[in-house]
Amino acid sequence: MRLLRPAALALAALAAAVPARSAVNVMTSTEDLADLTLQVGGDKVKVESIARGYQDPHFVEAKPSFILKLAKADLLVVVGRELEIGWLPPLVQQSRNAKIQPGADGYLDASLTAKILEIPTGQITRAMGDVHPQGNPHYHLDPGNGRRIAKAIADKLSAMAPADAPYFASRYADFDRRLAEAEKRWDAMMAPYKGLKVVTYHRSWPNFTDRFGLNVIGYVEPRPGIPPSPQHTIDLIAEMKRQNVKILIVEPYFDLKTPNSIGRETGAQVVVLPPSVGGEKEITDYIKLFDYDLDLLVKAIKETGAK
Ligand SMILES: [Zn+2]
Repeated sequence: MRLLRPAALALAALAAAVPARSAVNVMTSTEDLADLTLQVGGDKVKVESIARGYQDPHFVEAKPSFILKLAKADLLVVVGRELEIGWLPPLVQQSRNAKIQPGADGYLDASLTAKILEIPTGQITRAMGDVHPQGNPHYHLDPGNGRRIAKAIADKLSAMAPADAPYFASRYADFDRRLAEAEKRWDAMMAPYKGLKVVTYHRSWPNFTDRFGLNVIGYVEPRPGIPPSPQHTIDLIAEMKRQNVKILIVEPYFDLKTPNSIGRETGAQVVVLPPSVGGEKEITDYIKLFDYDLDLLVKAIKETGAK
């Protein structure tokens, strides 16, 4: 066996004492969370989402390839409120990564510091097919919650990599400033349409409609996660006619057959709005998501002459 000379030994000892600081390896359940992680983490994080923004986030294929990626993660950021209950837990368990198991330091439930709407009272059951048993999990669609999520991620990254805490704090401050500027623009766009009545397919939009002053009077789904039924559709059409609703918002992963027939019966315009980053190729980040959706919505409102 060859012995290392003293100079080489000294160099090896030095290298061991000053390891190159590596980026925090982050996995997220959705692309919205991946972008918010990137906004505050910059080049000090490596981040990948499991779900793609064009998929229904309640029903994502649990590809085994993600088990290996989760095995190497330092941090897992999830939406929570049981959004991912159908697909994420087996992947996390099978990763055998103690750092990212629920309750561990490397597991961040973004809903814990967000404003959550539609929290059920009384008996909570999934028997009726309700996929929102712990409140509405689509809370990232309020920019105020985007800010809260970004702050929670920045705090978590700072705890995990304290030497980079000033970096994460300044990235968060920059995101906060850019988001506030964008919110002024969005508020001005939506100001003429306060109280406008709309119908949505799934209950993806309560945080969005609350924030931008729209009034949701019904849903194409009879309950969250339950496909449209003929009787419910007939009732919805009657109600839309009665209240003169001209905007029907549909998430891109739902079949357009029922929405289109509702549109024909009522004269409402069917507006396909992606609810997530990555839902369309132009929607490359969190701020562009609102730019894209609000542009499309305002265009449709103007076309229908809805008030
Ligand atoms: Zn949902």
